[in-house]
Amino acid sequence: MTDAIERVEIAVIGAGLGGAAAAALLAGAGFSVHTFEQAPVFTRLGAGIHIGPNVMKIFRRIGIEKKLESIGSHPDFWFSRDGNTGEYLSRIPLGGYGRREYGASYITIHRGDMHAVQIDALPQDRVHFGHRLIAIEERDSDVLLTFENGRRIAAGLVVGADGINSMIREMLLGPEKPRFSGWVGHRALVNMDKVRASGLQFEACVKWWWEASRHIMAYATKGDGSEYYYVTGVPVDGWEHETSFVDSSREEMEAIFGGSHPVVQALIDATETVTKWPFWNRDPLNLWSRGRLVMLGDACHPMRPHMAQGACMAIEDAAVLTRCLEETGTGGYRDAFALYEATRRERATKVQTISNANTWLKEPEDPAWVYAYDPLTAQLG
Ligand code: FAD
Repeated sequence: MTDAIERVEIAVIGAGLGGAAAAALLAGAGFSVHTFEQAPVFTRLGAGIHIGPNVMKIFRRIGIEKKLESIGSHPDFWFSRDGNTGEYLSRIPLGGYGRREYGASYITIHRGDMHAVQIDALPQDRVHFGHRLIAIEERDSDVLLTFENGRRIAAGLVVGADGINSMIREMLLGPEKPRFSGWVGHRALVNMDKVRASGLQFEACVKWWWEASRHIMAYATKGDGSEYYYVTGVPVDGWEHETSFVDSSREEMEAIFGGSHPVVQALIDATETVTKWPFWNRDPLNLWSRGRLVMLGDACHPMRPHMAQGACMAIEDAAVLTRCLEETGTGGYRDAFALYEATRRERATKVQTISNANTWLKEPEDPAWVYAYDPLTAQLG
């Protein structure tokens, strides 16, 4: 370990989807920010993500909205359909309607493509990969952070954007493993040649539903239609693996969803590589910050992914936290963190609750309270 201690004004721990947004927004607001990420590098893992207009407005502020719009798919509707009969349960208008009514696009995109754009937008000399935080010491005038590689940083403020197993959360609330939700998700990018050969129509954004809320959410991850992805939700008895995901198979997909609507069957037939992920959860936390430490995203409100808003909430958190610090300056961090939590808690908890219930857009409903929200102008407090 080196003896030298470097100083930074704000340290963001984790350069995931929320941390990268926080780093960009805080830097854009004039703060001096360094981001520390345990991964040596990010890879393009096979997974998609929805980004609602509520967050595309934030990406506009960061300066990456157009780029993401040019890569991602722009579904005109979120369809919900019966997995056996194909009957339409809901048709939620997005596309041009969303741009008019909610103030920005609704896109679906490959998660790795979006993350790469977010990381590229950061000052590269301030994103430190290969930095796993291993110790935190709260001191009178700063927080001493120690990384596995021996580097030590004294930070004026620390933003814990370090995901569901957050060390910052553990520092604030003590060690507690997240709870297995009882649900897993299969994730696959399907073979497009097989998709096309089926001659069937694959809608740009559709959720297929079966009894007990089992489902397949399927959507395009590129605007040119060259990539199609699905993620399932399936209740299971338990999760006995130590790894964050395991391999699954077309046979497993067939066993769970076989004999369904022809489009679903074609999706299964086009499956080559599919992985299976456990969904973890926590109850809403009663503490989002203490002293110079504050959390955002999955560190403080993880959820099952069924509303496609987990990352969106992390990025909204980042926007509101930045605004609160702009109001007070870093010296007023206690007031800023209180204002941040007061602004975010109710909305994040509501989204967490609905997401976990897996009811979102199954039937016709007005999603404006989620999508029309503007985290950059919403009233604070
Ligand atoms: P993460 O993205 O998990 O980032 C945390 C980062 O911190 C990681 O890079 C990690 O390496 C780093 N880190 C952790 N510990 C340390 C440490 N000690 N030191 C340094 N770095 C550390 N959300 C949506 O909005 N739309 C969707 O469509 C959607 N679909 C989903 C589908 C599935 C199957 C799943 C599982 C989730 C989905 N989500 C979706 C939710 C979304 O992925 C999460 O809510 C989001 O990634 C949370 O962002 P975050 O920045 O808080 O945490």
